Formats: sequence, structure tokens, C-alpha cells
Amino acid sequence: MTYNINDKGYYGEFGGAYIPEMLYPNVEELRQNYLKIMAEPSFKEEFDQLLKDYVGRPSPLYFAKRLSEKYNTKIYLKREDLNHTGAHKVNNTIGQILMAQRLGKTRIIAETGAGQHGVATATVCALMGMECIVYMGEIDIARQAPNVARMKMLGAKVVPATSGSKTLKDATNEAIRDWINNPVDTHYIIGSVVGPHPYPDMVARFQAVVSEEIKWQLKEKEGTEKPDYVIACVGGGSNAAGAYYHYLEDTDVKLIAVEAAGKGVHSGESAATSVLGKEGIIHGSKTLLMQTKDGQITEPYSISAGLDYPGVGPMHAHLYKTGRAEFVAITDDEAMSSGLELSALEGIIPAIETSHSLAVFEQKTFKPDDIVIVNLSGRGDKDLQNYIDYFKL
Ligand SMILES: *Cc1c(COP(=O)(O)O)cnc(C)c1O
Repeated sequence: MTYNINDKGYYGEFGGAYIPEMLYPNVEELRQNYLKIMAEPSFKEEFDQLLKDYVGRPSPLYFAKRLSEKYNTKIYLKREDLNHTGAHKVNNTIGQILMAQRLGKTRIIAETGAGQHGVATATVCALMGMECIVYMGEIDIARQAPNVARMKMLGAKVVPATSGSKTLKDATNEAIRDWINNPVDTHYIIGSVVGPHPYPDMVARFQAVVSEEIKWQLKEKEGTEKPDYVIACVGGGSNAAGAYYHYLEDTDVKLIAVEAAGKGVHSGESAATSVLGKEGIIHGSKTLLMQTKDGQITEPYSISAGLDYPGVGPMHAHLYKTGRAEFVAITDDEAMSSGLELSALEGIIPAIETSHSLAVFEQKTFKPDDIVIVNLSGRGDKDLQNYIDYFKL
């Protein structure tokens, strides 16, 4: 049994590239070249240099003393919140813009829901002086004004998607249409371990720097590369994929994936894909997704915009199906109170996505000598208004 991708682009039964014929040349060009390019010494050198000098890596592995005392176990936080732009997403956009350059592309497109991936993409386009078009649902543009402003300051063109529900899936359709019309000069930067093969694998490899660092950082602090548990929240699954990557085949290390239960798993307002999802195809890959009896995608809900996704990447569908990862669903209320707790105990205000991971300590008891790593995927600045409204601060 392997938990990583096979050479056909599948994690077990999940993955693949279910795409319209007109998209085939673009995806095939990427598939044939991505591993070769990533293996080039000059690529690796430039990627590592930018992660160090621009993103600020390595991100610290911080022993959270007061949080550990409260839950009577050893908790380390992997501080992806300290990256430039405030989350793990930039690891992937840096990797993909370097990939786009090597493929001779001059124009970048992306789609975004809450705007975080749009900002991470606009950031690297500014860095490289590349044209950047971000598709975003008209409703999301209205809801996410600060991120729209950031993208504009960074020089991106934000194009409203005005069809359908005017949200993320409509923006995705627009981006795909653009890519079909501009197959030669354009690269499509996907923001999580989703989409047709090779995207899930490529994005997981760019995010794998997270567990690569955890290994040597933990060795320094605890004399072992292996924690007992790695906990990460899952929207599409990229920060989790990065935190798990170098432990996937090492079953001594237990993996915990945290999904958003919204107002409750069975409330009808949730994004707990593993529990509620059925096999289906979304964004070109076979995975678990929330859908109606007729196979139409169900609108997900979570207080956190980054977990509000109706599917999970194929890696996570496989980790769920095989039992390699334990999936935990956390409600809005549980996440919000854990976000407040981390702020008060450690002086770290987490993104609401990340707050879901921290709520696991209220649901599950760990042993005093267990080493538990939480991937602190992002900082809470972007969520301040949400925290204010929720706690009436
Ligand atoms: C986007 C985002 C997520 C969810 O995306 P994944 O691909 O599942 O990692 C989680 N945390 C933060 C802070 C985010 O910005």
C-alpha cells in the first residue's frame, strides 16, 4: 500500500485527469514537464532562495508551552502564519510561477473564492513582473473587499464571474474557459491539491517543504524526526498535504485531518466532505465531494472561507478511504473558541481555518509524552472582522 501518487496520477482510486478535450494540450504539457523541471538544479536553487529570502523560511517549529500544559501533552506549532502574506499558500504560488517561467509562459490566471489564493498569486506575479488575471465570483468580490484591494495594488486584474451562483465554482469555469482560449502563453495557477493530474502532486511537492523542515527541526528539539501526531485542517488539502508529505508512508506517525462541520455535520450547513461526500468528479479529478442524488455539487458552508470547499483533494480522499488519516469535524463555534484560546494562551491569533485544527484538543485526549504537531496554516489578521462580529469585541 502506498499513500502517495502512482505514475498514472492516482491515489488509490482517486485522482486522474477528467478534462475536456480542449484542455488536454495544456494539462499534458504540464504533466510531461513538471517533474523534469522540478528536478533541475537551477529550479531547486531559485525555489529555495525565494522561500528563504522572500517568504522567510524556514518557518519556526515552536513549542507551545502554555497550550501543552493546558492539554497535558507536548504541542508544537509549525508557524506557516509567519510566512510572507500570512499563510502556507505562497509556497505553492512561488513554485508554480517558477514552473510557468520555465515553460515559457508570460501570463498567469487563477481563480479565487475568499481571495487568499488570489492574493498569493498576485504577489508572485508582481515579484516576477508577469501579467495576472484573477477570476472571482461577483458575490465574493463584494464580500471580500480587502483582498480585492490587495490584488489590485499588486497589479492584478480582478475579473468578476457573473454566471450561476457568482461564487468560486463560476470563477473556476471562467478560468478554465480562459485557459482553453490561451493555451500557449498562459499558466493556470491552482491553489490547492485539487484539479486534474499533475496539479495535486505538483502542489503537494511544493508544500512538502513544511514536513521537510519539521523533520530536522523536531530532531533538534526532541532528538527524533518523528512526531506521534500531525494535525492539519483540510479545505482542498494543501497545507495538510505539505505537513504530512514526508510522513505518508511512515505509519508510526498518525495523521489527523480536520474538516469544517459548519453549524454541525448534519445541519445542512457544513463542509465536512469526508463524512458527507460521495465519489464524484470535481475540477478534473475523481475524489469525494458533497453532491445531491443527481450528482450536482452541494453548496458548502463554513465560517472560515478557506475551508468552504465542496470536495477534498484526491490524496485526502485516499487517506480517508484507507484509514491512514483520522478525519475530525469541527463546528464554527468550536473553532472560534479555540482561536480565542490560542490568542490568550500563546499570543498568536490564528486564521479561522487553523482554529479548526486547534479544536481537536477539546475532542481527543493525547498522552503526556505524545509529540503533537499542529500545522499553523495562517494568521488571523484577515479574519479580524469575523472574530469581532462573533465575540462582539
Ligand atoms: C486557504 C487556507 C486553508 C485551506 O486550504 P488548504 O489547501 O486545505 O490548505 C487553510 N488555512 C489557511 C490559513 C488558508 O489560507
